[in-house]
Amino acid sequence: TEEMIRRSEKLSVIGQLAAGVAHEIRNPLTTLRGFVQLHQTKGTLSKAYLDIMLDELDRINFIISEFLVLAKPQVTAVSDVDVRETLRALVVLLDSEAGLSGVNIETDYNTDQPYVRGEANQLKQVFLNVMKNAIEAMPGGGRLTIALGAEGADRIAVRFADTGVGMSEETLRRIGEPFFTTKEEGTGLGLMVSQQIVANHKGDLRIDSAPGAGTTVEILLPCIGQAAPSLPGEA
Ligand code: ADP
Ligand code: MG
Repeated sequence: TEEMIRRSEKLSVIGQLAAGVAHEIRNPLTTLRGFVQLHQTKGTLSKAYLDIMLDELDRINFIISEFLVLAKPQVTAVSDVDVRETLRALVVLLDSEAGLSGVNIETDYNTDQPYVRGEANQLKQVFLNVMKNAIEAMPGGGRLTIALGAEGADRIAVRFADTGVGMSEETLRRIGEPFFTTKEEGTGLGLMVSQQIVANHKGDLRIDSAPGAGTTVEILLPCIGQAAPSLPGEA
């Protein structure tokens, strides 16, 4: 249950991911082709079919956007990112969605050094993915606590702790695999993209979770003004 998992070793999987993307896109394309054929022979498509077609097109579009984030080799548009401000903005964005499922978001921003050198939009995407997962893990309500603090002299830690369903051992083992999801509407790409982005920023993403005991996702990032530590075995 105390299993803290380091994910950086799973990251050199773009090739594997490309194969997965091709597979994930072929299924909706087959559906779309079938419906177009039906239209050719039967004449008209009902609204229900058109709705499914739109959903399938949206899904293809979403999968490709996620893939492009991953395939992008390097951090670009680097600036000094105020992580505290980023988190504040996201809490505002997600507050009503959280409220609808009875989730309270509590924050504890505890550092005078909230700056990370990096790509603002990508870091925002990581936090958004993790927060959305937390909210989705609490369909009957609960609490999401977001804590920001210093971790040693040269890193900051962002911790997202939820009181949700938690993860089975199998889920813990498999998250970060492309397209691994336990959700009916999931893509199984959120955490994989997040791990890739965090690694691009020379950070670490760790997960501590057990069934029924909630989940804590901890993201460690190098603070500004310090050289990023290079870990042994890193390319
Ligand atoms: P998705 O959200 O589309 O399923 P993710 O990569 O974001 O894809 O997450 C993969 C899986 O990890 C989820 O389907 C879920 O089983 C598990 N997971 C992620 N975050 C949490 C969490 N906070 N609590 C419980 N399970 C989680
Ligand atoms: Mg997700």
